[in-house]
Amino acid sequence: MARYIGAVCRHCRREGMKLFLKGERCYTDKCAVEKRPDQPPGEHGHARGRIKVTDFGIRLREKQKVKRMYSLTEGQFRRFFEKAARTKGVTGEVLIVRLESRLDNVVYRLGFASSRKEARQMVRFGHIRVNGKRVNIPSYIVSAGDSIELESKSKKMDRVNMSLELLERRGFPDWLELDKEYYKGTVTRLPTRADVTIPIEEQLIVEFYSKV
Ligand code: SF4
Repeated sequence: MARYIGAVCRHCRREGMKLFLKGERCYTDKCAVEKRPDQPPGEHGHARGRIKVTDFGIRLREKQKVKRMYSLTEGQFRRFFEKAARTKGVTGEVLIVRLESRLDNVVYRLGFASSRKEARQMVRFGHIRVNGKRVNIPSYIVSAGDSIELESKSKKMDRVNMSLELLERRGFPDWLELDKEYYKGTVTRLPTRADVTIPIEEQLIVEFYSKV
């Protein structure tokens, strides 16, 4: 019997791609998607490919994929979508750019946390300062020029330093700068849709919410 490796890996297997939900493990050969790339979780997982997926199912899966990638609940994701829909611009693109501009995502991208879930906890627990002031709202949207840094006591945390060591393997976005010595990042510009390279068909998400 295969060893149980934790519920979040099921999400990646369900979506058929790596969503990077488990920190360091995601970059090792222990990753469940690396081990079983074509097998969804569950007793009937092997049946993928033989089951006809409806149009609704395709749109649902795309929404679930992005929601899980950014570790949001259904309510949080829907509220985010509704805000994007009220914002000027192409809704799908606005949604992705806003998700990427969330403070918890920025903390993750800077390498202060090994997953977005961990980054959210760090923000909630008061480890992060934005422009010198403590901000404990994970959904805070950063602006160009913002500086994001760790509280002094948080710089000594083992998990922060282990996560920073992983940064090279994870890759670092063009729109951020990091001063590793001072645990301080800067948003040099706002992210664009092109900065999110993981395959996402955001139009399917827009169509999903227009039908439910
Ligand atoms: Fe698990 Fe990470 Fe691999 Fe996803 S990418 S299956 S979370 S180890």
